[in-house]
Amino acid sequence: FVVKSHAQRGYFSPYIPGWDCHGQPIEHMVEVTIGPERMAEISQPELRQLCREWAEKYVDIQREGFKRLGVNADWEHPYLTFIPNYEAGNVEIFKDLYLKGSVYRGRKPIHWCTNCHTALAEAEIEYGDEVSPSIYVKFKLDAMPGIFEAAGAAGDAYLLIWTTTPWTLPANTAVSLAPEADYVMVQVEGSNLIMAKELVETVAEVAGWEDYALVAGSSGEPVALKGKQLFGLTYTAPVRHDITGTVIYGDHVTLDTGTGAVHTAPGHGQDDYLVALEFDIPLLMPVDDNGVFTDEAGRFAGLSTDEANPVIIDWLREQGTLVAEKKINHSYPHCWRCHQPVIFRATDQWFVSM
Ligand SMILES: [Zn+2]
Repeated sequence: FVVKSHAQRGYFSPYIPGWDCHGQPIEHMVEVTIGPERMAEISQPELRQLCREWAEKYVDIQREGFKRLGVNADWEHPYLTFIPNYEAGNVEIFKDLYLKGSVYRGRKPIHWCTNCHTALAEAEIEYGDEVSPSIYVKFKLDAMPGIFEAAGAAGDAYLLIWTTTPWTLPANTAVSLAPEADYVMVQVEGSNLIMAKELVETVAEVAGWEDYALVAGSSGEPVALKGKQLFGLTYTAPVRHDITGTVIYGDHVTLDTGTGAVHTAPGHGQDDYLVALEFDIPLLMPVDDNGVFTDEAGRFAGLSTDEANPVIIDWLREQGTLVAEKKINHSYPHCWRCHQPVIFRATDQWFVSM
């Protein structure tokens, strides 16, 4: 309107229209139009040519529509993101950034559809209810923390964690605690389990613990440590027994659900990824593009993440580390194209540091 009204008042006010001609929506429409069989056959250059034709066709249709709506513009000279001039501009900018050393490659977790073999942006995610397993698992600490030992606790000590994605356990490299929350040791069914004091009653109810006690000092009060004070303890990873995990802490840990001890797999979660960067925790990525476990997943290599859930749960039960198992109905991200549940996994990506 501003451009048009000035043009009509006699000012020189050219309006250059523009179209973004790249991206998933066009590829998606081409894929739907030609069908999955042909899609699997054609080469990348052919696919790109079809996408180009699709973009050109709709630029024409929209251009005619705008003209009929009475939009004044330089319709014969639009910006199109596929014209070589525009692409050359991008390459120039990329070259500058590259020569400045700002371009680097890293791994970062993103939403991934194993069905469409593609990364998805937040805008391409639909949330829908899904029934998932809800399990409590104990991770064996390398040593009994001194403060509990001094209060008379003996034998092995464990961290008790809760997760709804058992398939992420092979990628576990840390357990995160809430820095300022109190953690206690629960003695139940012959195990010493460390968890947040505030959640003991809730977990006891879910797990059906009839008889349990908290390790207490001479005053009779339960011995408690802040999450921060447990930092640096080490444990045997739940699936990859050859890996030593580390206890860390972060503000993302809340006491709304779970045990206050959060299973951390930096390759499978945004919070996990960020807290791992902070504490220099390694990132494991044992899931490939098809959602299938690689050799990095140890004994579960070859299974898909869906198949793996019940298998991992059974295996944990055999190991004696499964403390409780329930089902949970919760909101879970799905792919906007195929409507299947998506997973969160780290992929190699290019970054520009600013
Ligand atoms: Zn999909």
